[in-house]
Amino acid sequence: ERQKHIRNFSIVAHIDHGKSTIADRILEQTHTVAERDMQNQLLDTMELERERGITIKLNAVEVHYDAKDGETYIFHLIDTPGHVDFSYEVSRSLAAAEGAILVVDAAQGVEAQTLANVYLALDNDLEILPVINKIDLPAADPEKVRQEIEDVIGIDASEAVLASAKQGIGIPELLERIVTDLPAPQGDLEVPLRALIFDSEYDAYRGVVLNLRIKEGIVKPGDRIRLMNTGAEYDVTEVGVMSPDAQKRDYLMAGDVGYLTASIKDITTTHSGDTVTLATHPAEEPLPGYRPMTPMVYAGLYPADNARYTDLREALEKLQLNDAALEFIPETSQALGFGYRVGFLGLLHMDVIQERLEREFNLDLVTTAPSVTYQVTKSDDEVVEIENPSELPEASQIKSILEPYVHASIMVPNEYVGAVMELAQRKRGEFDTMDYLDASRVNVKYYIPLSEIIFDFFDRLKSNTRGYASLDYEISGMRQSDLVKIDILLNSEKVDALSFIVHRTFAAERGRIITAKLKELIPRQNFEIPVQAAIGSKIIARTNIKAYRKDVTSKIHTGDPDRRAKLLDKQKRGKARMKAVGIVDIPQEAFMAVLNTD
Ligand code: GDP
Ligand code: MG
Repeated sequence: ERQKHIRNFSIVAHIDHGKSTIADRILEQTHTVAERDMQNQLLDTMELERERGITIKLNAVEVHYDAKDGETYIFHLIDTPGHVDFSYEVSRSLAAAEGAILVVDAAQGVEAQTLANVYLALDNDLEILPVINKIDLPAADPEKVRQEIEDVIGIDASEAVLASAKQGIGIPELLERIVTDLPAPQGDLEVPLRALIFDSEYDAYRGVVLNLRIKEGIVKPGDRIRLMNTGAEYDVTEVGVMSPDAQKRDYLMAGDVGYLTASIKDITTTHSGDTVTLATHPAEEPLPGYRPMTPMVYAGLYPADNARYTDLREALEKLQLNDAALEFIPETSQALGFGYRVGFLGLLHMDVIQERLEREFNLDLVTTAPSVTYQVTKSDDEVVEIENPSELPEASQIKSILEPYVHASIMVPNEYVGAVMELAQRKRGEFDTMDYLDASRVNVKYYIPLSEIIFDFFDRLKSNTRGYASLDYEISGMRQSDLVKIDILLNSEKVDALSFIVHRTFAAERGRIITAKLKELIPRQNFEIPVQAAIGSKIIARTNIKAYRKDVTSKIHTGDPDRRAKLLDKQKRGKARMKAVGIVDIPQEAFMAVLNTD
């Protein structure tokens, strides 16, 4: 029957090892996309993904493959991101598949996220098909990589497909192996519908479009469905598959991966990980959902124009629909007005959300420096979660502060081990273990405060190892630390949005750096502005922004009206991102100054 001819799989790899290129080749060689429509990284549909050359969102597509056995197979290929911030996207796609293609770069070998992603696949009981890619590279060493996959990951790689996605080598073999090596889905058609929502997006005309993996039963237009967690019910208007554009179908059945629309306008009723069943014949139990992702990094997002506060909320709600890890609550700042404290999985996630808000929703934002969550026990034993540094209670009222730590795994060539350990030590890391990956590379593990990771750890790691180190981490728990809050005063006024929390031993240095940075970033005004860093009432660093009287345009002697207009325009646009705090104008960059260590 039909399920025997279905293969649902995802592609996992460390970033840049070639997932998206392999997906492109599969689309090409199965004639899913006409040659003239083919473009690189076809599944990376988001503008941002194409520009940065990274995959952010998972993408599912159906292709038809005529196998050597004379039968036609339906593949549902789910491309996934490789960056640590987006591993929740990976786990979502894995829950919709039976198999995973594991791509490893023939020159780089197993990297930190190779391991992390393969463990996610093994946790989901997926069959793994290893592919050693980029064998065309002069530095490729497929035999060494094959051995590494066996030694480090512990799966049989003797039959690994050797491929060059770039040159199309090994792709015909890969397509056959998907048929022979990966299992077909085995869902019961006769039982009530159970379908996993693994993603969804909002369409202005059709309402919410649900991306589903049908595990059991069958669903068709006209059916009344129920979302098991929220209880909401809708009438199905359309079902279909992406191939890669939407194609309507008469029904979706167990084993299928496809989309469903039901004029769902209320986006709060649909959550990724929820189970869709039929209202008339409901299933008894929902499918196991996803592990909810807890954001670990928080920042304040404020519309530069306060009148657009509601637009910001609506934009965040829409993004949240296909980004389960995004969280936000309203917040007010004396300096910035009304905005949201938004929770992210990491800095790249934050960066991506911020850019999407600006591009897709045309918002100008002022963002505060990211911070981790702290758990504070107060003198009266009350425990509070602090997501905004300015809300840290007075030192006299604090018994203890806990901060999140990560368990970090750093893979690096031998010659850089010293540099890595020195960096980790300096970032308050606690050494855990060191294992050899092969004769020339090691995997060093440390416990490190998350706040140090988001501060500048990754950049330093890359520069101290000439780009050779790869990093993966997971939250390991909360630990007590000697932390203090540093407040920033401009013109003797505390600016709440500039407060940050640091380890006491770094306080004096960071106070000095940030006041110097602010002096550079805040434009001179026609009065002198003292810039101070303080712990409680104690000033730990200070500097002054000198007064400046002249209008910038007075400097232009050419009298060229064009140039003058341009300058004024530039000034005006800069102003859009400035926030007047008291009588001082603060530009957006100043709120990020705390992240700047140079
Ligand atoms: P992803 O991050 O895993 O999706 O990786 P991409 O598919 O975006 O590929 C990352 C980079 O490697 C791109 O510049 C590709 O052109 C390149 N690439 C992919 N496959 C090959 C290959 O087989 N050989 C060579 N030389 N480069 C490749
Ligand atoms: Mg990609």
